[in-house]
Amino acid sequence: MAEFNSRILIIGSGPAGYTAGIYAARAGLKPVLISGKQPGGQLTITNDVENFPGFPEPVNGSELMQRMREQAVNVGVNIVDDIITEVDFSKKPFVCNSENSNIFIGDTVIIATGASARWLGLDSEKKFLGFGVSGCATCDGFFYRNRDVAVVGGGNTAVDEALYLTNFARSVTLIHRRDSLRADKTLQERLFNNQKIKVEWDSVVDEVLGTDNPLSVTGIRLKDVKNDSVRDIKIDGLFIAIGHHPNTELFKGQIELDAEGYIVTKGDSTQTNINGVFAAGDVQMPRFRQAVVAAGTGCMAALEAEKYLSEL
Ligand code: NAP
Repeated sequence: MAEFNSRILIIGSGPAGYTAGIYAARAGLKPVLISGKQPGGQLTITNDVENFPGFPEPVNGSELMQRMREQAVNVGVNIVDDIITEVDFSKKPFVCNSENSNIFIGDTVIIATGASARWLGLDSEKKFLGFGVSGCATCDGFFYRNRDVAVVGGGNTAVDEALYLTNFARSVTLIHRRDSLRADKTLQERLFNNQKIKVEWDSVVDEVLGTDNPLSVTGIRLKDVKNDSVRDIKIDGLFIAIGHHPNTELFKGQIELDAEGYIVTKGDSTQTNINGVFAAGDVQMPRFRQAVVAAGTGCMAALEAEKYLSEL
């Protein structure tokens, strides 16, 4: 058990958290960053990243996050591998308790705990994650030029991703568990008018099929939810688009959240409803869900926290 006192506490170690740390450290604020449940965040389950500026060759998601971590350490961020279990934002300084019984005390807090993709929960889905199973068409669609892919889900994200994937793929199969989509009508029209897309209604993925050496997806087994019959279809990539949930359980009752649990921040700012508490990345910005956007808001949070501290 130890006590950490800092002008800035940063909770979370995705692109938002590390970027906030780098800016805060370079401002001389000696930030303490608590890395959380999944050090490195969502990118650590992405294989090749080709759209993060500064990397002319594809970079492995885990490696990219490791490099951000090293950069943060090099400029003076104190990274503690621990999980915050309790926060008290009702008085200042703010106090956070951790799983390892550490106490973190800060004049400001930057929340960068991100969001987590919802997954189907199949063992085979886990096995091929990053090797044909993906949670992000914008990140991985490019690798499926002239290949056959499938998208699971019936919301705006699934339809958006299916349409986006037609830029690369030879065919896109949308798999939905019901017989109607919840996506906006305009998106649905675009989907139904696209010759490359076909929809498998009333169907769920029962198993992801593939090879072990190399680890690679070759198809999926679909189950018809009306009569439980199964059928296999050949695909090279499977995109899961059944929603995300923000990692904000910890902050319920402490800070303003929207109806879906994302942290509410003031327009054009990372300031939450608690003076001195800022939020950056996917935890407050579900719209784009891109590492570079998260990094951008991490920078904003550090600059805003620095200004807040200078005015204290
Ligand atoms: P969503 O609206 O919650 O849709 C999730 C979809 O996944 C639903 O169709 C749901 O089926 C299906 N689903 C959930 N769990 C499943 C499971 N275990 N197995 C199979 N299917 C499952 O999530 P989203 O599409 O990510 O959208 C999130 C928010 O972002 C929404 O408010 C959306 O409007 C917004 N968004 C907007 C845009 C845009 O405006 N262009 C783009 C992306 C996202 P059911 O329909 O049967 O429940």
